[in-house]
Amino acid sequence: MKPAPFRLERPDTIQALCRALAKHGDSARILAGGQSLVPMMNFRLVTPEVLIDINRVDGLDYIRLDGDALAIGAMTRHVTVKESALVKANVPLIAKAYDHIAHVTVRNRGTIGGNLSHGDPSSELPAVAICLDAKFVVSSSEGNRTVRAAEFFKGMFETDVSPGEFLSEIRFPVAARNQRFGFDEFSPRHGDFAIAIATVALEMKGDTCVSASVVHGGVREMPGQVADAEAALRGKVVSGEQVALAAKATASIEPTLQNYHGDAAYKSDLLRALTARALSQAIGEG
Ligand SMILES: Cc1cc2nc3c(=O)[nH]c(=O)nc-3n(C[C@H](O)[C@H](O)[C@H](O)COP(=O)(O)OP(=O)(O)OC[C@H]3O[C@@H](n4cnc5c(N)ncnc54)[C@H](O)[C@@H]3O)c2cc1C
Repeated sequence: MKPAPFRLERPDTIQALCRALAKHGDSARILAGGQSLVPMMNFRLVTPEVLIDINRVDGLDYIRLDGDALAIGAMTRHVTVKESALVKANVPLIAKAYDHIAHVTVRNRGTIGGNLSHGDPSSELPAVAICLDAKFVVSSSEGNRTVRAAEFFKGMFETDVSPGEFLSEIRFPVAARNQRFGFDEFSPRHGDFAIAIATVALEMKGDTCVSASVVHGGVREMPGQVADAEAALRGKVVSGEQVALAAKATASIEPTLQNYHGDAAYKSDLLRALTARALSQAIGEG
């Protein structure tokens, strides 16, 4: 299978990238690691007239602490994020999720920005970004704007990046000492996309949960908070009983992504079990 003919542009500065995006508008597509885009082009699911390859653009590949955030450049490869000591020390939930993301060859090319811009509901990082209330920096020739993760994902494979714009940076809040994190998913084979995902971030005061973020993935067109599970934890001593109650509360999320991997009832059961496991992991009993 071959892609439809396209023109290739290879800017090497952010300014040149902005000019190319402004010039070509919605006839252009950005090429990052190509791990999702190239197969889509080969199947002719997307047929861009112009491909703007951003692999040579200077200044989009970094991981650095910036105030109370860990800033990650969009072109940072999965392998670099997965192995980063800064990530492990400051945003441990990302490190937990990376245990499940893709295979080594895919991680060597794929980028964190490409992954999040792709907006796949079965992908781990969108759920993690929402769970942590990460901020997305969207750039263009007009300047930068910052979007909260929960508003960045607009639908299945749809994000808040318009023609002429690109995702330049993702800013994850540095974990506080009293925060606890958990992540679990079920996928047919290790490294495959998830059938269901549960991820949690708890702010604790002793054994009591001060605030909770519980996020589902893989079961609906977009990942999202599970408000009822969060309410079941907030202000409570988090014990096995509370974990079971919060997990049961995920029944309020109706799975709409159904396929040969599972119907709504199966995915609902999975979400309950995975949420219980992620919570147990967070409180150190998993
Ligand atoms: C066999 C296989 C298994 C995989 N398993 C998993 C998995 O378990 N979990 C998972 O999360 N992913 C998985 N992936 C996908 C992988 O993580 C890809 O790296 C990712 O989806 C896309 O990143 P990329 O850098 O390759 O982007 P590309 O494929 O280059 O681009 C993807 C899309 O994002 C757009 N884009 C890219 N960068 C930007 C940017 N900076 N700003 C705006 N738009 C941009 C492109 O135009 C395109 O529409 C798998 C892929 C394969 C092939």
